[in-house]
Amino acid sequence: MKLTKKLVAVLIGVVVMGTSLVGFTSMEAKSVAQVGAASTTTQKAQYKKPKYIFTFIGDGMSYVQLNAANIYQGVTEKGDLNLGNLAVSEFPVVGSATTQDATSFCPDSASTATAISSGVKTHSGVIGYNADKQTKPESITEKLKKDGYKVGIVTSVSIDHATPAAFYAHVVSRSNMYDIALQLADSGFDYFAGGSLVQPTGKNGDQRDAFEIIEEKGYKIVDSKEEIMALNDQSGKVYAISPNLQDSQAMTYDLDADKGELRLKDFVEKGIDVLDNENGFFMMVEGGKIDWAGHANDARSNIGDVIALNEAIEVAVDFANEHPEETLIIVTGDHETGGMTIGQATTGYNTAFDILENQKMSYVEFDKLIGDYKASTSADKAKLEDLLPIIKENFGLVTSKDKDAAKNPALVLTDYEYKKLENAFKETMKAQEDRAQGEQQTALYGGYEPLSVTLTHILNNKAGIGWTSYAHTGVPVPVYAMGQGQELFNGSYDNTDIFNKLVEICGLK
Ligand SMILES: [Zn+2]
Repeated sequence: MKLTKKLVAVLIGVVVMGTSLVGFTSMEAKSVAQVGAASTTTQKAQYKKPKYIFTFIGDGMSYVQLNAANIYQGVTEKGDLNLGNLAVSEFPVVGSATTQDATSFCPDSASTATAISSGVKTHSGVIGYNADKQTKPESITEKLKKDGYKVGIVTSVSIDHATPAAFYAHVVSRSNMYDIALQLADSGFDYFAGGSLVQPTGKNGDQRDAFEIIEEKGYKIVDSKEEIMALNDQSGKVYAISPNLQDSQAMTYDLDADKGELRLKDFVEKGIDVLDNENGFFMMVEGGKIDWAGHANDARSNIGDVIALNEAIEVAVDFANEHPEETLIIVTGDHETGGMTIGQATTGYNTAFDILENQKMSYVEFDKLIGDYKASTSADKAKLEDLLPIIKENFGLVTSKDKDAAKNPALVLTDYEYKKLENAFKETMKAQEDRAQGEQQTALYGGYEPLSVTLTHILNNKAGIGWTSYAHTGVPVPVYAMGQGQELFNGSYDNTDIFNKLVEICGLK
């Protein structure tokens, strides 16, 4: 990658001048940079308004999620103590953004995506409104659309989910997903892709079908691989829905995807085909299930979806290499999820990420196997031993009595772990309403299927991965930048400044 090594000295010049670039037009910023350059006799800081802008958001993705994927990729592909080749590691600029919102240091995706899309702090749960819940900021996508850009919104979760919605809708509650769908129809944006709609006929199922309304507003809705692959710059306004949906109208976890299934990278590639035009485009791409796997404390699924996002980023990097003078790529997260750590109490300084390879399906799919077992067995006859074969098959974990125990000692359940599994199994076999409540249950299972979450905890801990929460945390997020205006993303700032910097670079008002 050859976009590196630009302008560092010049940036120092800008910083020394003590001038916040936010609020300047790009021309003014340029002249400030040039003054800095003159005094330090270095190169000029220059950028052109980028014609093509990609903003990738890993939902629930901070430094740890990225590094876990990097370690997993390195260890499984190259062997012990190697890192992988995530695209962001070659980005020339990286900054760090704080994520707190108007109501919490552990914010949600509605407020943080609003901060990134619109530059304002608002309440958790609020999309595209200021903290007064009355007035609406104009988002970067609305500004760029007015400026002649085409706009694409891509996500691996449902398209009416908080993060994508913050780039095209304004609702005081993220749960108003029907309103979000109607605003999609009215947005006039050019390419929506990924997941489907959660409330196509409203919360109570008594509203007019949103898909019909979206079509009425001129969108072509396609949901087969053939139709999606056939899209191009003559297709007009498009809503492309993945043919393979899993939970809550989202795309399948990368770990669960069949060979040949359309993945996030395919929707980015297709987005470029659809959006390409003389005036340029802006594409927001969300890896939404990184967050969901973080909530569920399922590291293997989390890592799989970070790698899927990485593959989508690589598509943009290839595009940028063809259009280096015209492209800007930003990669960030909206917040951290799960309090994921590399290293934890029982493994100390050791990690063994390769054992995560033994996990063959996400917690979502394993929950279904548990459901099948519960349906076929009476509660008084159920025993954990019945499930040991599918636990071995899908997580690699075995008891010391298993015939393969000696082959891979790292996967043998300790007495302590087996006891945890037995307790979880007992809870799992109870009907939802009969399950124990309270602080201990919350800490152990976080509302997830007790057996599944205990299995991912055990496997993750053996690999050297810990979790502290089933929710979001207050960890800052990295902001990687490559291309026109990249230098503005250096340093430490607030997530609202991602919007401010984009406005600045594009010379928008
Ligand atoms: Zn979340």
